[in-house]
Amino acid sequence: PVGRVFCIGRNYPWSPEDRNAASAFPSWFMKPNTAVFLAEGVLPFPPATQDFCHEVELVVGIGKGGFNIAREQVESEHVWGYAVGLDLTRRDLQKIAKTQGGPWEPAKAFDASAPCSPMMPVKVCGHPHRNPIWLYINEQERQRAIIADLLFSVPDLIATLSKSVTLLPGDLIFTGTPVGVDAMQPNDHIHAGISGIGEIRMQVGA
Ligand code: MN
Repeated sequence: PVGRVFCIGRNYPWSPEDRNAASAFPSWFMKPNTAVFLAEGVLPFPPATQDFCHEVELVVGIGKGGFNIAREQVESEHVWGYAVGLDLTRRDLQKIAKTQGGPWEPAKAFDASAPCSPMMPVKVCGHPHRNPIWLYINEQERQRAIIADLLFSVPDLIATLSKSVTLLPGDLIFTGTPVGVDAMQPNDHIHAGISGIGEIRMQVGA
């Protein structure tokens, strides 16, 4: 069963400066597990936004939990599998939250905000290191990177996050999105994926 949903903030270089930015750890926030659903069919267009944005992300499923997990043991012991997911965002509400110093939940934790492909077990897909990650809207490329572009790798993320909270079986970690996030309109066609992990095809609802 899906436990908590942790989402990692800026974790790919969106500009050359991002690679050099000395951050101990990227920001993280959460979505309720009820936001997760199988990514297929129609993606409901959420209320209360004029700026509904896609963020394609590698999703890690935790198999064995722990506190203060050693980075060397993350891949061999703690990851159950991987999926591709969308960290959907009401960007206009996020901008207001950033300006006013308010919480991100209105921008991030809405209904159906975390569509996800079926989770692929590690024993089937292995650990993605150089796999391409990409997203197209209406056959036009919006986002493309490789997993090796992650500023904090999956072992680094899980080791560091588990110093702050105890991770549990079933927790999902959305690991951040490459440059190119942008708005979607009703009836747009989404095609996103991570090579060797999974693909998403959905249509944005009215
Ligand atoms: Mn994100």
